[in-house]
Amino acid sequence: MTNETYYSASMRDRTERDALRDQIVADIAVIGGGFTGVNTALELAERGYSVALLEAERIGWGATGRNGGQVTGSLSGDTALQKHLTPRIGANAAADFVWGLRWQGHDTIRARVARYGIECDLVHGHLHAAWRASDMRELRSFAAEAERRGMGEALAMLDRDGVQEALETPLYEGGLLNRNNMHLHPLDLCRGEAKAAESLGVRIFEQSPVTGIVQGDHPIVKTASGQVTANTVVLCGGAYHRLEPGALGGRLFPAALGNMATEPLTAEEARAINPHNLAVYDTRFVLDYYRLTADRRLLFGGGANYSGKASADIAGELRPALEKTFPRLAGIGIDFAWSGQAGIVPNRVPMLGRTAPNIWYAQGYSGHGIATSHIVAGVMAEAVAGTMDRFDHFANVPHAKNPFGERAGQGMLALGMWWYKLREAIGV
Ligand SMILES: Cc1cc2nc3c(=O)[nH]c(=O)nc-3n(C[C@H](O)[C@H](O)[C@H](O)COP(=O)(O)OP(=O)(O)OC[C@H]3O[C@@H](n4cnc5c(N)ncnc54)[C@H](O)[C@@H]3O)c2cc1C
Repeated sequence: MTNETYYSASMRDRTERDALRDQIVADIAVIGGGFTGVNTALELAERGYSVALLEAERIGWGATGRNGGQVTGSLSGDTALQKHLTPRIGANAAADFVWGLRWQGHDTIRARVARYGIECDLVHGHLHAAWRASDMRELRSFAAEAERRGMGEALAMLDRDGVQEALETPLYEGGLLNRNNMHLHPLDLCRGEAKAAESLGVRIFEQSPVTGIVQGDHPIVKTASGQVTANTVVLCGGAYHRLEPGALGGRLFPAALGNMATEPLTAEEARAINPHNLAVYDTRFVLDYYRLTADRRLLFGGGANYSGKASADIAGELRPALEKTFPRLAGIGIDFAWSGQAGIVPNRVPMLGRTAPNIWYAQGYSGHGIATSHIVAGVMAEAVAGTMDRFDHFANVPHAKNPFGERAGQGMLALGMWWYKLREAIGV
């Protein structure tokens, strides 16, 4: 097995960019080259700004290039966001806003892939699989809302037999099939978007960790060997950055999530276990998620280490769940295993805000960030350009700071997750 991720081993575009070695000037400095940073840069460039993007490693190196590749309408913190918005804009408008938001990232991704010709193995079809019979209630209520809102054709409820026709697994009590959800090669998507941003004039620097931001009318973003003087900074470092600790420390907690990819299955095996090529996750709080890749590997992830530290044996930990899901694959070879850090926010609402009038940040999608990061990039770009409504909907949601510091907050999060897992294990 290799330390590479499946994505970095199979990515199509292998462009390497230089580190920042000069003092440069730009309208906007974006920090972080994942989905949030790259798409914010791209959207700002589309609006005519000059943008410099600084990435500590390589484009897509963080959670963006390590995830399950599932693009779903599961907006983290949806209930809390809707509750918060209701007294401000009214119950119907809040419900409409959240429902619309759920699917906007899908449209943005499809449009971007089409417009810039990005090859990223995009496939439609997803199953939200019910772990317990009682989980069907929530899936049914979601399907009913979709029906009411004119999306009924994209969704179908499956009973236990229906799921077993779609997947060769004994595990689930039913599920919700969603043909609007997608799966894709996230690193190819992000690197394609980075190329698109460059075609619009964005200057991207890799291997350029930002060491600090000097606040002021023209904030200065510093690296070890250069700096960007800008009018505005947008901080998109996800769970990997520690910048602006005074304002942001103790509010977001990194969870290490494991992922692995098997050796390629035979065409017959792939057809047998997942004939419609669906991406799948289940209804548990700490869930399993999987899908087939374009070269017929089973990409399987699950569990999470809320201490923020990656497990030493990801494949060993994930294998029992994979084999329980698909008994036919017992003993299958694992070619890649890796982990990535997702930014968990206690109330789960994406954290958008400012640490100074011209220093903005967007982070914390609690493990559901492919669609969300694309939505947020649009929200950030329009806010920087002066339209604040959608940004304010997020920025007005309070995010508690853990008074006992980051380490204690991480411990409390780990304890909370352990409690959820225990409840699920004993079926309460
Ligand atoms: C294992 C795993 C599986 C997941 N599966 C799914 C899934 O199937 N579907 C889904 O919707 N979401 C999933 N997610 C979540 C999703 O990947 C993230 O929410 C999303 O990619 C976040 O993008 P981002 O750009 O905000 O952060 P990141 O992709 O983490 O990017 C942040 C970047 O900032 C850079 N950076 C940090 N500090 C600095 C600095 N000081 N200077 C310069 N650069 C810096 C980092 O190097 C990194 O490249 C998963 C996450 C993980 C970890």
